[in-house]
Amino acid sequence: MKFRFDAGCSTFVAIEFYMSPITLVIHGGAGTILKSLLTPELETRYKSGLQAALNRGYAVLENGRTALDAVEAAVFELENNPLFNAAKGAVFTHTGEHEMDASIMEGLTLDAGAVAGVKSVKNPIHLARKIMEQSGHVMLSGDGALEFAQQQGLDIAPSDYFHDDFRYAQWQEIKHSDQYQLDHSDKDPIHREKKFGTVGAVALDQFGNVAAATSTGGMTNKKYGRVGDTPLIGSGTYANNQTCAISCTGHGEYFIRAVVAYDISCLMEYKGFTLQQAMDRVILDKLVKLGGEGGAIGVAPNGDFSLTFNSDGMYRGVRNQTGLNQVAIYGND
Ligand code: ASP
Repeated sequence: MKFRFDAGCSTFVAIEFYMSPITLVIHGGAGTILKSLLTPELETRYKSGLQAALNRGYAVLENGRTALDAVEAAVFELENNPLFNAAKGAVFTHTGEHEMDASIMEGLTLDAGAVAGVKSVKNPIHLARKIMEQSGHVMLSGDGALEFAQQQGLDIAPSDYFHDDFRYAQWQEIKHSDQYQLDHSDKDPIHREKKFGTVGAVALDQFGNVAAATSTGGMTNKKYGRVGDTPLIGSGTYANNQTCAISCTGHGEYFIRAVVAYDISCLMEYKGFTLQQAMDRVILDKLVKLGGEGGAIGVAPNGDFSLTFNSDGMYRGVRNQTGLNQVAIYGND
């Protein structure tokens, strides 16, 4: 919101409010998502899950609340949907557990909170926000993060809450190997469904503030406390009111090495790129050259938004003040 004071007359002050165009963009993972691999029934379930998250986050913006509240609400909705690899429905680790990563960042203050490798916390995105606002730290991990969540009164769930039969079957296929998988089934190496089920949201509120949030179960059969890009501020998540808010999904090791989210912001800040130019450079050029598959969503303070991926598909959606309200899965729709 911007104020213009007209001091021409001592008894009258004119105030103009420039409301920013509220915008919400979400993703539910990217990868080899082909129409031939999804039944119409499953496609409908994915789309309605995405729409529910868009509706929940957008209602927050419409009610005049902040971008930070909106991204937390949208990710919360996706975390609760077992179709996506975050919280309920998170992939299995090598030891048959669920170790979750999440992060959140506010573009106004550059405040951020993140959690890595936490178990049993029903909604890791709530924990990331508590870490940002209550811990005095940016990132907590493992048992300490769980202890902090309990102290903060967050919901804790038994391990069967996170169980999903499809994820379990994925883990059974490879649990005796050293292989780890990015939330995909490669039973048929030619037509395999390879997707990254991480969830994320970016938003612009009416006050001109942007925010980003991302949450994941990481990789099937991961071990040694492996952590991907999702909880790393600057790699999987970044927000800055001067540039943009970004949430990523894909093969985390590459996103870490390319510092994807911050790199997009830097191209805008230091080189004057538009959001789309910066996304194209990083996702479609730099990452591709490294061999990194995946995508990202972004929003800028002027209402520009982008959903860019170098994989076959990305579960995604966007809703804004112009009436745009769309979800999509494949390359074109
Ligand atoms: N980026 C996540 C990770 O590497 C995976 C994903 O996006 O699905 O942990």
